[in-house]
Amino acid sequence: MNDFFCDALIVGGGPAGYMAAIGAKQSNPNLNVVLLERHEQPKHKIGEALLTGTIIALDQAGLTERIASVGFHRKIGAAYVWGESAEPWYVNYPLDSDMPYPEQFRDHERRYSIHVPRHKFDAVLKDEAIKRGVTIIYEQGEFITARNPMVKPPKHDITVISVQTPIRKIRAGYYIDATGQAAVMAKSVGMRTRIGSSRVGKYCYLADIDWENARDNGFDIHRTNILSNEHGWMWVIHLGEAGDNLTSVGFISTPDLVSKLEFGNITQYFPELGKFGIKDLSPKDVYGKPLSKWYAQPDYSYKSEALHGKNWALAGDASMFIDPILSQGVTLATHYGLLRGRAVAAALEGDVRRQYDVSHHYKCEGIVLQEVIRQWYGSNRNAGDWKLHAAMLAETVYSEKKDSDDAFRYITNLENIRKEYWPYPMSEQREIDARLGTSTLVS
Ligand SMILES: Cc1cc2nc3c(=O)[nH]c(=O)nc-3n(C[C@H](O)[C@H](O)[C@H](O)COP(=O)(O)OP(=O)(O)OC[C@H]3O[C@@H](n4cnc5c(N)ncnc54)[C@H](O)[C@@H]3O)c2cc1C
Repeated sequence: MNDFFCDALIVGGGPAGYMAAIGAKQSNPNLNVVLLERHEQPKHKIGEALLTGTIIALDQAGLTERIASVGFHRKIGAAYVWGESAEPWYVNYPLDSDMPYPEQFRDHERRYSIHVPRHKFDAVLKDEAIKRGVTIIYEQGEFITARNPMVKPPKHDITVISVQTPIRKIRAGYYIDATGQAAVMAKSVGMRTRIGSSRVGKYCYLADIDWENARDNGFDIHRTNILSNEHGWMWVIHLGEAGDNLTSVGFISTPDLVSKLEFGNITQYFPELGKFGIKDLSPKDVYGKPLSKWYAQPDYSYKSEALHGKNWALAGDASMFIDPILSQGVTLATHYGLLRGRAVAAALEGDVRRQYDVSHHYKCEGIVLQEVIRQWYGSNRNAGDWKLHAAMLAETVYSEKKDSDDAFRYITNLENIRKEYWPYPMSEQREIDARLGTSTLVS
């Protein structure tokens, strides 16, 4: 046993946890920040297509040079077969002089994002957290909480007492749950609720995509390719040299349909694989070895009732995850993780307001994204209408007047994220509250 006390304790070493640790250190390098992660080597995870919003968040954390130096596969946008047309349509990343964007991720005509093998991406974040003085302990943590029995819900009137690992008890001035879908803290106090209907996924890696064939059919090795049909939808995401030239291919649908998918029958359910030159599947794992069983992704769409409390906050999937259709999970985890960490540093100095602001904005973002995603799965299959709706959201929620293509990219790629939500103009907060029916000081 080796119990101890630290300033900030983060449980979970994914993008949300490492960025929270980096954010806390960025705000106050003297803080004693500890991160608990159960695996010593970053494990394989899903979440490989990153948005321009991720690049903006990484830049705000001072990580641009390091990420650029790895040479992750460049992404120029997305191709979708979704909606009423069977032909692909595109989201592109043009240069935008109004938007600061790191020069390492743009050239004379466009901006770029990246496709990443997650174990390598997470390893970079971990390494950068260590360089900034974060202590990492490889143990599984469990939050020990207390609740005022006199106080009725909302349940954020909970205090974290400590985090217990198999061998020690750690106490801290402030705690962050960044445990992803495990959502250790949120689940233990019964704060996690499902969003929408149940969807699940299966995926694997392929080494034999015919990218010339794909290009002839309107798809691209440098795009996140998403194709839907009556059975569900599939992604085709190339990981480039950093990902051993493998391509991630996954299928999302209802649990009933996904339970029927086998390597041998997949082209019957998703004949669109033929557009990538795939007739029979030779599935690999993320290291390129033959795979005998799919990687599976259970039901993923959940949110937590409260996003922070007295001495704790949630970040990444532990707070909410809506749907992978727009590849937003890692952007939300990096951005709000970073701001959570900065807000922890402020809270430790007595300024608790920042944590409220981050939660508030996070909740508003969640409402906007739920609305956008509901349209994708809804009965109006006209993608032009969704883009017009995005223009309306950009103007009314974020006060940005944009044409429908720009607005669609702005909202779906999370280019609306800010450096900081404090000081955040109250007039804007009230406007957002009025539009979304939210309340400024509710966490
Ligand atoms: C099918 C599917 C496809 C997706 N595709 C994309 C995509 O293309 N792009 C994208 O941006 N996002 C995508 N996502 C979302 C993305 O996977 C997540 O949003 C992202 O990984 C969340 O990061 P995180 O840091 O919150 O959690 P994670 O990355 O899951 O990290 C959580 C960490 O906590 C650790 N942990 C858990 N419990 C404990 C404990 N008790 N003690 C110590 N450590 C613990 C785990 O080991 C893990 O390392 C996809 C999601 C799904 C379901």
